[in-house]
Amino acid sequence: MTRIFLSPPDVGATERELLLAAFDSNWIAPVGPDLTAFEAELATTAGMPHAVGVSSGTAGLHLLLVALGIGAGDEVIVSTFTFAASANAVVYTGASPIFLDSEATSWNLDPDLLHELLDKRRRTGNVPKALLCVDLYGQCADYARIVRICDEFDVLLIEDAAEALGATGTGPNGVEVPAGSFGRAAAFSFNGNKIITTSGGGMVVGTDGSLIERIRYLATQARQPVSHYEHTDIGYNYRLSNLLAALGRGQLMHLPDKIARRRAITAAYRQQLGDLPGVSFAPDAPWGRSNCWLSCVLIDDAVAGVDRHAVEKALAAEDIESRPLWKPMHQQPVFRDADSLVTGVSDGLFDRGLCLPSGSSLSSDDQARVIGIIRDVWPS
Ligand SMILES: *Cc1c(COP(=O)(O)O)cnc(C)c1O
Repeated sequence: MTRIFLSPPDVGATERELLLAAFDSNWIAPVGPDLTAFEAELATTAGMPHAVGVSSGTAGLHLLLVALGIGAGDEVIVSTFTFAASANAVVYTGASPIFLDSEATSWNLDPDLLHELLDKRRRTGNVPKALLCVDLYGQCADYARIVRICDEFDVLLIEDAAEALGATGTGPNGVEVPAGSFGRAAAFSFNGNKIITTSGGGMVVGTDGSLIERIRYLATQARQPVSHYEHTDIGYNYRLSNLLAALGRGQLMHLPDKIARRRAITAAYRQQLGDLPGVSFAPDAPWGRSNCWLSCVLIDDAVAGVDRHAVEKALAAEDIESRPLWKPMHQQPVFRDADSLVTGVSDGLFDRGLCLPSGSSLSSDDQARVIGIIRDVWPS
């Protein structure tokens, strides 16, 4: 039997055709018509007027911060419950992250805690410059509240929407809009395990055209528009290639199918594991629609009689990949000196949570196998 991966690339004939057409046109690199088209198409999906393709989601976050003027001596609040790239991007700029815990209702940044931190900092006159807020596992954070709080304290909001392409959320005006449209700008990732992939790549979207153009300029070695390689800024080589953009266009065409499939996978896990003692699932926040990038279960070992390690091990024995939820950044050795405000919510999620195979190419038979193996772990 073949290995079942957590979230493998799911590509088909459309991607192959578009990729080969780009190849045959000799628009290999660096830029070209597929990149321009992919940027426009992704901007539409995210409901934003401007987009720039970059070499990864991490590169997108990094340039976003640089273009917004974040640098040495600045502080940036970051969701502690995330993948390390969110925090690394802050450190690349010379700024320091402050890690903030999750709320139980969405597993995303806790707005009450955000308010508490900012209130305290305002009194001492050192309000952090920006908030990098993560939309975890394909579900938007509570932007109705977070946007208001950032406005109140004059904090720049940046959205790490790497996992949330095609999801929706609700801002302070009560309108449901796509992930990526809540902050000053947002970054998406097309890494191999994300809901769509270009093998590696990312995109920054935003409402401010000059900010996006600034990022495009920084991503292209900060070359002045003259022929003799004139530089007035430190630049980066962070552009997405035209070939990969062609692949991305094919993926994006199938995004609605991929979301539908991932949502169905999550629903099947809920339905067929929900009766097991001690099992619960990622919350479905009321303010939008998750893309269900990864299906996550929580296992309360005191009730279940088994823990997440036992489930992970049973699946691994059958060549099935599963992963613990993100280990919070405030627990990471590399960030041991960073400031943080935590409540124990993300610590608990890390202790009890497991991501199950969730790829849009996962067959119903394979999912049934995964479910059967998990059920067998429970004491009968
Ligand atoms: C994947 C991911 C990133 C980084 O994206 P890459 O394209 O892999 O660089 C950043 N933040 C979050 C939350 C992610 O899941």
